[in-house]
Amino acid sequence: MTESIKVGGDIISFCSRCQLSLAHILVSLGPDSLPAKVICKTCKAEHRHKVAKKASVKKAKTARKSKGTTSARKLKKEESVQMNLERWTRLVSEKTPIKYSVRTLFKQSDVVDHSSFGIGLVESLMEDDKINVLFRTESKVLVHNK
Ligand SMILES: [Zn+2]
Repeated sequence: MTESIKVGGDIISFCSRCQLSLAHILVSLGPDSLPAKVICKTCKAEHRHKVAKKASVKKAKTARKSKGTTSARKLKKEESVQMNLERWTRLVSEKTPIKYSVRTLFKQSDVVDHSSFGIGLVESLMEDDKINVLFRTESKVLVHNK
């Protein structure tokens, strides 16, 4: 059954240098009569015989690794949302809320007390007397200075 495996004969082995399963020349057998050392016909490197199976395991590992990176990135994004809420809480607590009215002129980083949306932070001033207000869960464009 080990007829095809003999020293000096051809054997398919995984070459770590070429990163491919290639034809190798069997140099020596191990104590268990299994291929031990081989020479790559492509790059002429002598190395231990490796079955191609290992290559696919390595590939799967790499794939899993990149998947892990993706979820790590996702986690980071969730973290930054958390940070924004912390920042929002800190900023709104620093100022006395101004009762919202379309007649009131708001400035950037003013804190608004809106009758239906609650407490919000004026994130930016927009054209046509509009303000972009960050409420706890959403941002709204409101009219002011009318
Ligand atoms: Zn090689």
